[in-house]
Amino acid sequence: MLVDTHAHLDGAEYAADLDAVLARATAAGVETIVSAGQDEATSRATLSLAANHRAVRPALGVHPHLASSAGDMRWLVELVRSAAVVAVGECGLDYHYDFSPRDVQRDVFARQLELAAETSLPVIIHCRESEDDLIDQLRRHYARDRRAVVHCFTGPYDFGKALVDEFDVYLGIGGAVTFKKAEALHDAAARLPLERLVLETDCPYMTPSPHRGKRNEPAYMPLTCARLAELRGETIDAMARATTENASRLFPALAGA
Ligand SMILES: [Zn+2]
Ligand SMILES: [Zn+2]
Repeated sequence: MLVDTHAHLDGAEYAADLDAVLARATAAGVETIVSAGQDEATSRATLSLAANHRAVRPALGVHPHLASSAGDMRWLVELVRSAAVVAVGECGLDYHYDFSPRDVQRDVFARQLELAAETSLPVIIHCRESEDDLIDQLRRHYARDRRAVVHCFTGPYDFGKALVDEFDVYLGIGGAVTFKKAEALHDAAARLPLERLVLETDCPYMTPSPHRGKRNEPAYMPLTCARLAELRGETIDAMARATTENASRLFPALAGA
């Protein structure tokens, strides 16, 4: 049994065949999928998806790309307080694309960290080329013992080590670990503490080898699990068990399901 800790199932990519996608996920052993909203519309869509499909569990938030149009985020506070959500997110900082000004990204991220702390929910974090500011924001706006996951973790080892040493942060290992050239990620995934690693697809993006170029889906996640097992010199079963246990610790709401 595997847990996909980061997916986006609400989009047009799955409108035509979501039932088949979820059936293939179950057949592949992916029993639970955390689907993350990225703004108000996708967060609401994610909630209704979760209401209609047992395997899908909702996380609600504002992606850094969309921070400029986040508004007062009262909708997020209301939804997070009223619905059975697994986490706040995805939220974070993306200085690669800079689709929203960095000061706005930091402010919108900080407000979501504080909302998560107030509601005792973990946070799903997106971080691209913003490592120093991520650590700074966590220090300012989040307690050390509060859980979070840095999703789509790509290394290097030192960044992951700094996160797990200072915070109760988990690292989301996705399809990138199956890519031949992802050497910094291979090194990090092999050496970071196993009890902090969780699996994810980030589907429809980040499709693992050998399906690169196609739409990603949760049924492909065993390929990521197998590559992680190979990198760590463990069996696939041991890796599946450990990452599923870690996912339940990261997202306590999953255990009650
Ligand atoms: Zn992301
Ligand atoms: Zn994502």
